[in-house]
Amino acid sequence: MTVVIVGAGPAGLTVANILRAASVDCVVLETESRQFIEQRPRAGFLEEWAVRALDERGLAGPLLERAQAHVECEFRGEGERHRFRYAELSGQHHFVYPQPLLVTDLVRAYADRAGGDIRFGVRDVDLHGIDTDRPAVSYTDPISGERVRVDCVAVAGCDGARGVSHDHLTARYATVARHDHGVGWLALLAEAPPSSDCVVFGLHPRGLAAHMARSPQITRYYLQCPPGDDPANWPDDRVWTELHARLAADGAPPLTEGRLVEKRVLDMHDYVVEPMAYGRLYLAGDAAHLVAPIAAKGMNLALHDALLLGDALAAYVKGGDESGLGGYSAACLPRVWQYQEFSQWFGHLLHGASSGDPFAAGTAAARLRRVLGSPTAAAAFAELYIGKNADN
Ligand code: FAD
Repeated sequence: MTVVIVGAGPAGLTVANILRAASVDCVVLETESRQFIEQRPRAGFLEEWAVRALDERGLAGPLLERAQAHVECEFRGEGERHRFRYAELSGQHHFVYPQPLLVTDLVRAYADRAGGDIRFGVRDVDLHGIDTDRPAVSYTDPISGERVRVDCVAVAGCDGARGVSHDHLTARYATVARHDHGVGWLALLAEAPPSSDCVVFGLHPRGLAAHMARSPQITRYYLQCPPGDDPANWPDDRVWTELHARLAADGAPPLTEGRLVEKRVLDMHDYVVEPMAYGRLYLAGDAAHLVAPIAAKGMNLALHDALLLGDALAAYVKGGDESGLGGYSAACLPRVWQYQEFSQWFGHLLHGASSGDPFAAGTAAARLRRVLGSPTAAAAFAELYIGKNADN
């Protein structure tokens, strides 16, 4: 009774660890190498509920030892700084822990400690018979070059936005709802210590700039840019000039510069696949929904799906209980839509100043004033920002 997990990102590895702990036979298929996935820089902000849930399963040991707690964020604009103490209002905080470290921890727990089966570098992954009780996944073995077929009872499609699972489900069995923010973000990683103890959003007429700690040595920065912009248009001098200008405010500590080790343009768009499952294929994480990194939600949603899917698969394989799998998509989607709605709302607030549209700029400024000025609006913002009570 094998479960095949396609993709070894946060979603797939969490499902794999849950199944392994429940003694369910499973195999993880991953197109990249172990070294590659353990170094791929991406997210860094984990919400408290997600960390507690990982901890309950014994998967948060190194994270709890090494992650920094973040309790505030800061908005800057027109030379002013506004601190927002969301942890005080919500009672919960972020754990700052780079995604490659989480992936490394989860691979170690699954493959090294629990002896789980994970096959790296597989090619041409294909899904078969997902609308039957005996689906299968085939792939080309990277060493022998031979096709391998794994028959199974269920497939966890955790292979991200560009994997085969998303395409397989949406080609025939599900619909995709899309939203485009109409802006790009130049995503940067600097070998420089953070220049603030919290996330900073610079609301500037030339575009948003954001500062997010990753570790004591590494900081992620974002610069709003036209969608589809070429990173070559952003030589290092231009990047730092814009970051200094867009994050400037009276009394703000100066930015510490460092070597830029990543520079890529992300077009800010979102999608949701509904339903997230058909037959014996269950999507989790970015395969099922993409949420632009505006509010740092993607990795958290991936974990939310994976926790539900892991438990549901274990209950089905071990005890024949199909209720979790039957209700899986419906259990995930409320939080997915809450996070999408919040990201859209927050995106308007962050991008209004640079929209070139006086109406959008006016409503964006009104949003920020309300969050900063009204205790009720502040409490609602804090809950959504940290992902508390979002399953409705
Ligand atoms: P992935 O991490 O994409 O993992 C999918 C895996 O499947 C990959 O290892 C891939 O190699 C593999 N794969 C692909 N195709 C196949 C195939 N055909 N067969 C087998 N394997 C395959 N989220 C947050 O919560 N907070 C943040 O601060 C944040 N910042 C971000 C910053 C950036 C620059 C980016 C790009 C994203 C950010 N995100 C953030 C989003 C977050 O990184 C993703 O939501 C998260 O990685 C989703 O996890 P996943 O397991 O669903 O997919």
